[in-house]
Amino acid sequence: MSSTMQVAIIGAGVIGTTTAIRLQEQFANRISLTIFSDQFSPKTTGDISAGLWGPYQLGNTPQDKIFTWSKDTHNYFHKLWKDGVAEEAGVSLLPVTRMTTEDQSYDVPWKDVVFGCTDMTKETLERLSAEHKRKYKYGIHFNTFICEPTFFLPYLYKRIQAAGGRIERKRIESFEEVATFDLVINCTGLGAQVLIKDDYELKPVRGQVMRVKAPWIFDVLLDDSDDGNYIISNMHTIILGGTHQLNDYNQNVDAGDRKFIYEGCIGMNASIKRAEIVKEMVGLRPGRSQVRLERDTYTTKRGKQLQIIHNYGHGGSGVTLSYGCAIEVADIVNVVMATNVNTPKSKL
Ligand SMILES: Cc1cc2nc3c(=O)[nH]c(=O)nc-3n(C[C@H](O)[C@H](O)[C@H](O)COP(=O)(O)OP(=O)(O)OC[C@H]3O[C@@H](n4cnc5c(N)ncnc54)[C@H](O)[C@@H]3O)c2cc1C
Repeated sequence: MSSTMQVAIIGAGVIGTTTAIRLQEQFANRISLTIFSDQFSPKTTGDISAGLWGPYQLGNTPQDKIFTWSKDTHNYFHKLWKDGVAEEAGVSLLPVTRMTTEDQSYDVPWKDVVFGCTDMTKETLERLSAEHKRKYKYGIHFNTFICEPTFFLPYLYKRIQAAGGRIERKRIESFEEVATFDLVINCTGLGAQVLIKDDYELKPVRGQVMRVKAPWIFDVLLDDSDDGNYIISNMHTIILGGTHQLNDYNQNVDAGDRKFIYEGCIGMNASIKRAEIVKEMVGLRPGRSQVRLERDTYTTKRGKQLQIIHNYGHGGSGVTLSYGCAIEVADIVNVVMATNVNTPKSKL
């Protein structure tokens, strides 16, 4: 191994790029970083998302992990927002109203992570139920961050390259192709199905959304019920959603889903009728029984024990967990470095 650890990251979505930036922040010139990816923003899964902070569709991922990763990411968005790079990085702070018709109260562990979280009063529940023609049982209000990958990813690509990282458009079919690296970090989202053929836990959760122009809306209204809709404000457009169809690989816009989204959102806010439709999009969330963030090895054809760290399967929360997971990956890299005598130690 050379004196600088040669690290390859596969995947340039929100998970791969936040992993890259964290490693550069933490290890500076002790690593040499290359990202390989067959797609970049605006063609990653995150570019379809609204980028709203909020743990969602994470299977059986342990609650303590979800809490730590999402809290660390919230702190990172807050830092970017305060550092004055919010516009370039696509980070905004917005009021959120979430409610549900289901028998599930908002007894969530992240109430103190977001800002000013309060339970909805009975009067507001009744008013919104009447306005939306729904029977809401619980609701909350709070303020949190949105981080729009369509801005965030190009911002990070620039920073990664400025810090000496290489970014290469290349599809990796097998870990053999990156076997010369000291360490490989697998951030391929649903694409991990190609590299890890026996991971039967990884399945798409299809999501269809619509982007409209409604510059009078500056908040988030989200019905968490299984048959609920959402209206999420981004910097230049509003996202109307959405669907969550397990194991559905259809990436075409579906007319039935369009009707559900458009009419459902008009039911929540009639002014949407006046909004100009910009585009409709479909994305496949990398759904998994739980997020896979762990160390592994791959034995190459030449018998080398290639060090791998997997970081994929973030379901409906890749943006929300991104930087927190990157911190944990960096902790594992530290351990890998410590066990490799040739790797330079920090002088700090
Ligand atoms: C409609 C919708 C709404 C959403 N809303 C939110 C939200 O509000 N908040 C939130 O937190 N999350 C949201 N999500 C989820 C979030 O978008 C995903 O969890 C996240 O984008 C996953 O990021 P990723 O980097 O793991 O995967 P991806 O974005 O899919 O990136 C994977 C990368 O790996 C590359 N790749 C894959 N295989 C290979 C290979 N073999 N060789 C080379 N490169 C490869 C791809 O080209 C891509 O660049 C939403 C998702 C959808 C679909």
